[in-house]
Amino acid sequence: MVNTNRDCTICGNNVHEYEELSVQYSGQEYYFCSDEHEVVFKRTPEKFV
Ligand SMILES: [Zn+2]
Repeated sequence: MVNTNRDCTICGNNVHEYEELSVQYSGQEYYFCSDEHEVVFKRTPEKFV
């Protein structure tokens, strides 16, 4: 099994592969634990990069 652990860009929670949400921003990929945190990132991405 491949280890695909990721941390939520917003809160640092572990993001499991099967519930992975990601956004491409500035050529990088960012991961989120929930759509709520994806929305927060999309609103003000410059705060988190
Ligand atoms: Zn989160």
